[in-house]
Amino acid sequence: MSTVLITGSNRGLGLEFVRQYTDKGWQVLAACRSPERAIELSELAKQHPSIELLTLDVTKESDIHALAQQLNGRAIDHLVLNAGVLGDDCATLGEMTQSKWLGVLTINTVAPALLIQALRENVAASQHKTIIGISTRVASIGDNTSGNMYSYRTSKAALNQILVSAAQNLREQEVKTLAIHPGWVQTDMGGEKATFTPEQSVSGIISVAENLTLEESGSFRVFDGSSIEW
Ligand code: NDP
Repeated sequence: MSTVLITGSNRGLGLEFVRQYTDKGWQVLAACRSPERAIELSELAKQHPSIELLTLDVTKESDIHALAQQLNGRAIDHLVLNAGVLGDDCATLGEMTQSKWLGVLTINTVAPALLIQALRENVAASQHKTIIGISTRVASIGDNTSGNMYSYRTSKAALNQILVSAAQNLREQEVKTLAIHPGWVQTDMGGEKATFTPEQSVSGIISVAENLTLEESGSFRVFDGSSIEW
């Protein structure tokens, strides 16, 4: 049975990843800050023994180490680095402070890098060997025609760079990485007016990840499979 680990699995895209991988018959390691408070996720886990709930606040390095220890020796086919924040209080000139900046970078950039570092052997030991970083189109420098979103844009552009480096460093082990824009999606972050449903976005992301070749590792894609300029 294939295994996926999803960060930020209690709501939004993360919860939809849990649903869709469960429907595909995968073993789901659903990581979130407070499993005991994740009501919808806990209900799903009660119905499906294939869902395992794990505690992970991505800002806590101790949680990342504990998770890696707990999962020692277990293969992870898809590692979905999904947890993220918009940092909308650190978006414009006039709003920025050091502590707001560091908060966004810790979650969107440093945590995914530490998770790749901690779990790379688990991914390398799997059949599918794929790391999926949930990025965003606004991370694209070439696409930046409207400015603002300072902390979010840069935190995700740096995430993209991390995924490209990991693609190089893990190529010998045949581990693939993917930076993917989920579209503008109806979640707490995307809001009700967003274009796509979580169902549409997540099914697209899973399909792109499943079809990714080693040659394409380190790509920056949209959930429909199209490419985005860096
Ligand atoms: P939501 O705001 O709905 O969910 C964010 C998730 O991240 C929650 O599960 C949240 O957990 C988790 N999270 C935040 N901080 C931490 C932390 N310190 N430790 C663990 N988990 C944490 O956002 P979406 O589902 O929309 O976003 C998912 C990903 O997709 C993000 O990386 C986002 O940047 C990206 N994205 C989303 C777009 C959209 O339109 N929705 C567009 C482009 C990219 P908790 O409930 O505990 O806060």
